[in-house]
Amino acid sequence: MPPHQSSRVKKAIVDKATTAAGIAAPAKGTPKSKSSKRQAVEEPIDDDIDEPVAAEEVKSAKKRKATENPEHVGEPGTEEPKSGKKRKTTTKAKAEDLMALAKRTIINTLKKSMYIGAHVSAAGGVQNSINNAVHIGANSFALFLKSQRKWVNPPITPEALDGFHSLSKEHKFEVHKHCLPHGSYLVNLAQAEKEKADQAYTSFLDDLQRCESLGVKLYNFHPGNTNGDARADAIGRIAKQLNKAHKATSTVITVLENMAGQGNVIGCSFEDLRDIIELVEDKSRVGVCIDTCHAFAAGYDLRSPEAFEETMTKFNNIVGASYLKAFHLNDSKAPFDSHRDLHANIGTGFLGLRAFHNVMNHAEFQGMPMVLETPIDRKGPDGKTVEDKQIWADEIKLLESLIGMDTDSDEFKALDKRLQAEGASERAKIQDQVDRKSAKDAKKGGLAAKRRGKKKAKASDDEDSD
Ligand SMILES: [Zn+2]
Ligand SMILES: [Zn+2]
Repeated sequence: MPPHQSSRVKKAIVDKATTAAGIAAPAKGTPKSKSSKRQAVEEPIDDDIDEPVAAEEVKSAKKRKATENPEHVGEPGTEEPKSGKKRKTTTKAKAEDLMALAKRTIINTLKKSMYIGAHVSAAGGVQNSINNAVHIGANSFALFLKSQRKWVNPPITPEALDGFHSLSKEHKFEVHKHCLPHGSYLVNLAQAEKEKADQAYTSFLDDLQRCESLGVKLYNFHPGNTNGDARADAIGRIAKQLNKAHKATSTVITVLENMAGQGNVIGCSFEDLRDIIELVEDKSRVGVCIDTCHAFAAGYDLRSPEAFEETMTKFNNIVGASYLKAFHLNDSKAPFDSHRDLHANIGTGFLGLRAFHNVMNHAEFQGMPMVLETPIDRKGPDGKTVEDKQIWADEIKLLESLIGMDTDSDEFKALDKRLQAEGASERAKIQDQVDRKSAKDAKKGGLAAKRRGKKKAKASDDEDSD
């Protein structure tokens, strides 16, 4: 939804398309095919919807261009992003944009209480995230609380705050349960340098305070990066910053996200998450969000029911089931254990629909926010990249339809087959990259072995720029 439209107008039209409660019964049947649109999505391999924060992200965050991910670079709290003018569309296009793309599913019509949504835009003010969530039929949502490119941001305006409270009430969003803001990519709580660590802490605390003013209880962030320092020390610094932040706030739960990368990135293993939590004094203020793409890329399989069970048993044994608070639902363009962070549309990646069937039918996950961070960019008729939010609207319905679906049914098999076919060329492309990199690394490793006693082959994390 273009940020220049007033929330009043948006609200009026969105409400027309929804029931009095702002929600509706689930759509019957399978979501319509988006194959033509998805095939048109041409993503650079290192363009990851909003999840590119592997080891390199912290370094490169400042360099990211506004065009990289227009959905998420809006600056909440500022009235009108500078690009507002450019985004103006024809009256017809505007009217289409204002119609809800899907009605929200009434949770108790589902066999399991799964709250599925997406990471929506908060451009123009945090209150807009609610309408944007309603627009795609989401029952949960994520947002950025401030600009991802600036350390210092204006506070949330009283109007935005009021708007957020009144709209969440009107649309019956329990924001304390189903809203999961995403932390700033600039922040690395593992920073060792005093000045940088203080800057990171100030920004982090500011986000937590924003959560509390909004009545939001869960706050998701990337644990951090060692910057080459000893892992245990870096983890100690994260926990120390968390303890300080917990004392400076009262209710918000800091939710660690598992990561896909390796090397300097903290949080790629369940052990990392456990080690941070172990040092957190108030255990009621810390949790974990599992990103399905990151888990898979980091070597935690979710595809078969057995593999899924094994991964969750590992999580429960190492971290503890009580710490699991939320999900990021993303398929993976990169193969298993490749440590590449490349989100794919649901069912089109290496995880496949079966993995999401496992997640959607796991009773223990009920009530948690489950947020899509899948790619929605596609080429418009003029060749320019546009966001197609219908993709999220359809993916929400697709995931909801998996609840209770028989995986032996023709319906499931047909869906699985169609989505896998859609993602086939992209999977082949990334698989090829991964294979070539492994061959290169093996060669490097071989040479290094020959030069016994000399410096070890350089860790590959510098090469993983996604
Ligand atoms: Zn993330
Ligand atoms: Zn994520």
